[in-house]
Amino acid sequence: MLSLGDPGPGPRSCIIDGDSSVRRKETEQEYDFDREIANLGIRIKDVDTLKVRGEVFDEITLLALYKLVHKKWISAIGGSISTGKEANVFLAEKDSTDIAIKIYRIRTANFNAMGEYIIGDRRFAGIKKTKKDLIFAWSRKEFSNLKRAHTAGLSVPEPFVWDRNILVMEFIGSQGIPYPQLKNANTENPDRVYREILQFIEDLYKKAGLIHADLSEFNILYHEKPYIIDMGQSVTIDHPKAFRFLKRDIANINHFFSSRCDVDDEKVIFSRVTGMVFPDGGTKTQAEEG
Ligand code: ATP
Ligand code: MN
Repeated sequence: MLSLGDPGPGPRSCIIDGDSSVRRKETEQEYDFDREIANLGIRIKDVDTLKVRGEVFDEITLLALYKLVHKKWISAIGGSISTGKEANVFLAEKDSTDIAIKIYRIRTANFNAMGEYIIGDRRFAGIKKTKKDLIFAWSRKEFSNLKRAHTAGLSVPEPFVWDRNILVMEFIGSQGIPYPQLKNANTENPDRVYREILQFIEDLYKKAGLIHADLSEFNILYHEKPYIIDMGQSVTIDHPKAFRFLKRDIANINHFFSSRCDVDDEKVIFSRVTGMVFPDGGTKTQAEEG
């Protein structure tokens, strides 16, 4: 675990430190980067952090991170938990409690894929269309989706705060190790877990007015019960593609569980969740528009 305390030189200083020694400067660019960090009062020494820093810790991210540290949302940054398509997740601490920080990469994020989910969501009607704005809106969207789900009493990480491309949330795991993804978890009673996930889909729809839109065994962590994560792409139920996304979520979950337990008919699940008839291929219904 790295410490992010006050090293002393100035009141604005903080440190992102590691056990490992600082690597030799490799390029002039990295030197500049270090100098900028020094100007911010942040020093990075951890080797793992150095490896991903060019991609993740750009200037904007560092500033946002610095702000979050300054506001005491983050007191230490630990190792990398995951490097995904669009985001990196880090273990961190607030006081002595483990937290998770998800950082959307401004440089490499595939923001074309984000458009489909943002466009059509009333909450994000006014956002500007630059890549950076889209990514900021995306982390705000994930924060607000998690908030709605958590407030409705659903099993998701509690979101604490967001700033620009950074989301700070409850850590789902124990002793610094995240719970395994459902795909790798030992579920003694798959039928019960299947029912819990169907109930999640239904509650998310009815109590939070949302559809996950990327639900699968990858975005569910499991330990004694399922924890649903990764809600950046989740949409409100009035989104033009809401029903299409819901059908896909149901199909993914059924596909995963079909070899493990009896599964319900997809149309029956759809109707139970929405109170509406499953939109069939030939008939163009509201759900098929967009
Ligand atoms: P993207 O789709 O943008 O690539 P992602 O799939 O990389 O995002 P997530 O699915 O949210 O991002 O998280 C990736 C991994 O990080 C998870 O599988 C899990 O291991 C870990 N993780 C994410 N959030 C948490 C959390 N709150 N607590 C513990 N571990 C987490
Ligand atoms: Mn994911």
